[in-house]
Amino acid sequence: MITDLHCHSTASDGALAPRDLLCRASDRGVDLLAITDHDTVDAYVALDRSCAPDLRIVPGVEFSSQWRGCTIHVVGLGIDLDSPVLTKAIERQQTARARRADVIAERLIKAGCNDALVGARRIAGDAPLGRPHFAQYLLESGRVKSISAAFKKYLGPGKPGDVKHFWPSVETVVDWIRAAGGTAVLAHPGKYKLTNTRLGLLVDDFAASGGRAIEVLCGRQAPDLTRKLATLCNDRKLFASCGSDFHLPDRPWSELGCCGPLPATCRPVWELL
Ligand code: MN
Ligand code: MN
Ligand code: MN
Repeated sequence: MITDLHCHSTASDGALAPRDLLCRASDRGVDLLAITDHDTVDAYVALDRSCAPDLRIVPGVEFSSQWRGCTIHVVGLGIDLDSPVLTKAIERQQTARARRADVIAERLIKAGCNDALVGARRIAGDAPLGRPHFAQYLLESGRVKSISAAFKKYLGPGKPGDVKHFWPSVETVVDWIRAAGGTAVLAHPGKYKLTNTRLGLLVDDFAASGGRAIEVLCGRQAPDLTRKLATLCNDRKLFASCGSDFHLPDRPWSELGCCGPLPATCRPVWELL
């Protein structure tokens, strides 16, 4: 079975419309899929499933939060899309996202990039503004030569666009997901650049808050990292998730369905779904 429980559509910062995402997942043999857009579930509104009739779809979302000064992402799986708690949580996140975008834009203007807000808005269309939209703007306006350079120079950790103080705590976000009937999954634990000690503390706090699983696999990753995350997961008696974090085609390392199977020692999170 090919499982992908983490990917993005045009409802957030992905390149494919929800329908096209399902077609692509189906073409790539995915059996179980969760669309996990940043702080929105709009992809599920009137979702056209006609090109992937056999694909099992788990409702999902990826919330931004903060923990000890770091931005941490938490995926909610199997959430009730009609939950009033979820609706309120998303409203709150959209407000935070808009305020954050204003601050990012102000800081980019100070760094000499005028029109950042207008430019990023034009790229985002109806989707809530995120750093990738600012990155695309910086690329298109010739400020940087690549998206990764935009993060390195302007948007990544410690740079002007690294604005995290609007996000709620990890605990709050886990509460929302549980109240909406979902399972909280710590997203891509290897991507926060934490020391092993801090990563262990994060996973402890996450589990103590009611988090049930961590992404042992996220995109193509080094076998060393997979082993480390599997141990972290099993030591805490957590379930393991796997996803591509797909945003756009032409990135084979985060292609839909790219990254299973989970290590045999792990208990898969889909046992809970
Ligand atoms: Mn993203
Ligand atoms: Mn993420
Ligand atoms: Mn993601």
